[in-house]
Amino acid sequence: MLNTPLNGNGKAVELPSSTATAELHNHDKQIRVVSNNDADEIGDMHIGTSSQTPMREDAFLLSDEEKIEKIEGHFREIMETLGLDLTDDSLSGTPHRVAKMYIKEIFSGLNPANKPVARLFENKYKYKEMLLERDITFYSNCEHHFVPIFGKAHVAYISSGKVIGLSKLNRIVQYYAKRPQVQERLTIQIGEELQSILGTKDVAVIVDAAHLCVSSRGIEDTSSTTLTAFYGGAFEQADTRKEFLQYINMRPQ
Ligand SMILES: [Zn+2]
Repeated sequence: MLNTPLNGNGKAVELPSSTATAELHNHDKQIRVVSNNDADEIGDMHIGTSSQTPMREDAFLLSDEEKIEKIEGHFREIMETLGLDLTDDSLSGTPHRVAKMYIKEIFSGLNPANKPVARLFENKYKYKEMLLERDITFYSNCEHHFVPIFGKAHVAYISSGKVIGLSKLNRIVQYYAKRPQVQERLTIQIGEELQSILGTKDVAVIVDAAHLCVSSRGIEDTSSTTLTAFYGGAFEQADTRKEFLQYINMRPQ
């Protein structure tokens, strides 16, 4: 089996199976990809091209309501092309429901207007250690198949003098999850946003997720999950990284 991580240009690079992890350097950030998925799946379908979500220049010319109306029409056509009878009571409301769900819920993170506003507080306790919030459940969607990616995110930072409300960490994860995504990009976007808000490079993110495009179709592997990590600043050092990984696995007695 081959692992297929990205090189700096976002192209797939094949590594022999003995290389279970690959460190990828992209400017000052680092992402480690560990996957036991089939190489063809990753190469063909799970490789993103940049840490930015590719957006059109006219992305926000239409209002949410106009987008819902437009998507509703297109989705009705998809359903009719599939041969479904939309005069049936059970199906008639589906195009509108799907369109509204896309714009208001599962893809609401495409619109910067929905970005959580993060208020920072003085670190009055002078707490200088690592803060980890683990097991943040998220639901996202694969941008290659538009089916769910879901799992847990673990995020950590070391305060540079400011602290952030804990629920904001969840909200930042949810904001970036609510886009068509690839897991690597989701991981980097969360990490970079935290670095920018907190004014420190000392940020780490691990995302552990299942991809329904892998389990429910394609190779139909129902047991694999994919791990991606973002390590900045102090977390690039082995001892800090080790502490972070130990905290994630620690459970109350
Ligand atoms: Zn996919």
